[in-house]
Amino acid sequence: MTDTASRTDSTTVAPVPRQSAAPAPSVPPVATPAYVYDMATVRSAHARLRSWLPEPSELYYSLKANPHPDVVSALYDLGCRAEVSSPGELAAALEARVPAHDILYTGPGKRDEDLDEALKAGVREFAVDSEHGVGQLDRAAARHDAHVTYLLRVNPGGGSRGAGLRMTGDPSAFGADAEDIAAHPERYTGGENARIAGLHLYLATNIADEQALGDSFSEAIAVARTLREALGVPLRTIDLGGGFGAPYARAGELPAYPGLAERLAGELDEALPGWRRNEPTVAFESGRYLTATCGQLLTRVLDVKNSHGQRVVVLDAGINHLGGMAGLRRVPPLHPDVVRPDGNPAEPAGTGTDGPDDAAEAPGPAMICGPLCTPLDTWARSHPLPAVAPGDLLAVPNTGAYGLHASLVLFLGHPAPLEVVTDGGRVLRSDRLTFVRRDGAA
Ligand SMILES: *Cc1c(COP(=O)(O)O)cnc(C)c1O
Repeated sequence: MTDTASRTDSTTVAPVPRQSAAPAPSVPPVATPAYVYDMATVRSAHARLRSWLPEPSELYYSLKANPHPDVVSALYDLGCRAEVSSPGELAAALEARVPAHDILYTGPGKRDEDLDEALKAGVREFAVDSEHGVGQLDRAAARHDAHVTYLLRVNPGGGSRGAGLRMTGDPSAFGADAEDIAAHPERYTGGENARIAGLHLYLATNIADEQALGDSFSEAIAVARTLREALGVPLRTIDLGGGFGAPYARAGELPAYPGLAERLAGELDEALPGWRRNEPTVAFESGRYLTATCGQLLTRVLDVKNSHGQRVVVLDAGINHLGGMAGLRRVPPLHPDVVRPDGNPAEPAGTGTDGPDDAAEAPGPAMICGPLCTPLDTWARSHPLPAVAPGDLLAVPNTGAYGLHASLVLFLGHPAPLEVVTDGGRVLRSDRLTFVRRDGAA
């Protein structure tokens, strides 16, 4: 959250209007649209991810996937540190009572004000992406009379798999080129107030295939080994990044990586002996694996009609609440499953047949639209959907990561959806973000 966004408590949870079918027990009776995040599912996703990781290792939760304070504090309680990359994510981590010393502040472009704010809050671990970033952090730390450490983010480029570094990779805002670090290590080891303490590699995202994910970590390990020698200074942390996959707005399970821990442990024994004693500490990062499955977006049907032979269903949630970034290819293309809230897409309509105004009898595929005044607000042109009628409750599964916070909430001025926190079905909290215009000088 920025300081122009705040969370409004809404203790009265509206009853479900016109809900003639009993909702599944996992669906609390809430007003829609609503994101529901279940903490029991966060805990099981965390346990599952930990079981794939070599021990000992640290795990950072990347707030980018879902900065809801209750999600963040659940993951902190489970032992995750917080990886933040903006003032809003920093505020969310602090609101979740993550101690500043457990926060890693990353990002390829940081304003001096951002660093000042983080330093003032007590953050002492950063990631930097360039020679300039090293100097900027050193000067900021000096302003605060602080001594900080940083992980140097590395852009290994492509073609660096295996021994040595062949730099044929892509230009990127992220990280300093491995080749340049190896050639000029003194530029990257820090100054009086900010010293290098490790390397930060983040080479992949959303890889369900164990072999491919393992290969990406192998590359990270090889690069870390080479640069550790080139830098010639003690490195406390080797952050190997992430890449763990998760279903996105579709039914499905978290991928399994049963052989990953053993494979990586063997490679780490070779490349970074001492890692079993935390010399260096090996770290991983995840956003989506930890949170994707905890969330579902509940939405109600606002209208159903036939338009030139096509069934058109208009929902109370659209690209303003889910998938706005899919068009930017920042997240995978959105092909959401819109299902009955119990997760069963095949269930015949239990509602919607009780009124004379019901428009849809034939459950053919439907065009699924949101409420926004733009034809862009279409989740699907032709999606299987049982017969539905205005007022029916539907759900998009696995939207706990890159859901609300990767969407276009300001576009067209609808209120933000409710965010409801549950634990095994029990509602713990229900509120929504609001956006307030403030004096820019304040
Ligand atoms: C986005 C990001 C993550 C989280 O990615 P997921 O695919 O959600 O796990 C982790 N680390 C860094 C540096 C990132 O930018």
